Amino acid sequence: MITYKELGLVNSKDLFAKAVKGGYAIPAFNFNNLEQLQAIIGACVETKSPVILQVSSGARKYANQTLLKHLAKGAVDYAHELGFDIPIVLHLDHGDTLELCKSCIESGFSSVMIDGSHHPYEKNVELTAQVVEYAHKYDVSVEGELGVLAGIEDEVSSEVTHYTKPEEVEDFVKKTGVDSLAISIGTSHGANKFTPAQCTRNADGILVPPPLRFDILEECEKRIPGFPIVLHGASSVPADLVKIINGNGGKLKDAVGIPEEQLRRAAASAVCKVNIDSDGRLAMTAAVRKAFNDNPAEFDPRKYLGPARDSLKELYKHKIVNVLGSVGKA
Ligand SMILES: [Zn+2]
Repeated sequence: MITYKELGLVNSKDLFAKAVKGGYAIPAFNFNNLEQLQAIIGACVETKSPVILQVSSGARKYANQTLLKHLAKGAVDYAHELGFDIPIVLHLDHGDTLELCKSCIESGFSSVMIDGSHHPYEKNVELTAQVVEYAHKYDVSVEGELGVLAGIEDEVSSEVTHYTKPEEVEDFVKKTGVDSLAISIGTSHGANKFTPAQCTRNADGILVPPPLRFDILEECEKRIPGFPIVLHGASSVPADLVKIINGNGGKLKDAVGIPEEQLRRAAASAVCKVNIDSDGRLAMTAAVRKAFNDNPAEFDPRKYLGPARDSLKELYKHKIVNVLGSVGKA
């Protein structure tokens, strides 16, 4: 067993307490390879932002758990080398069993999510409480979930949204002892969040998706004041990236994500962690497609993964400064 403290990581407790008070959110960026990690740490050091490095069970299989442990340690040392020690959390995204959570905790994760949201309420409470009991022995933070997001991301999928029921949150938090709670207020997983048919056009002709259910968020906040709330599926699916992808041979469907103004509003509330995965995938794909199209004779991976890394880093900096407000909070 190796503890996260030995890797130089932190749990999310203090970060969330400060974020709730300060009216900003900590970025949770998913990663599974070296270029993504370089981009995340580079962006967060330059903006002096704390960060949650997030790994799904699929990403853990892809990257290999032994390598991941060293990558996380490497991230801490890399930030130091870049000249600013930012707080770094290593978090399991959508853990589905106690065994997986245990395995992550034993290999250096400082935070885990146990997603029992697809189970009946009582079973969700029971499973989440078991993970909390184990995790807290090692000072590891636990994120639970109530309500189900629509969309597909790695091994998580649902066709429809089940909004969080605010009347359940207080009981859930009390019975499980979780440190943060993911709720469902209309965000969704993946790049195909809303079809143009589900949207309306504003005065500038821009497609606007149905607004997030801030009424549910406010109801939850009332019942668990100051408690850290998490938003999943919070990518904005930037139209310029989709355009670059499709202009360079891609075939993405027209899709609309969560408008950044709405995420800014959420980040100023008790929402203290915002998950962004799909936008990173789009930024990388756009850069790689463009590099291939611009230089069809190129076959040095650094020549297309390098631009992908640069583009990712710019995207992350934009999110930190303009959307989440975590700039300068490290
Ligand atoms: Zn999620």
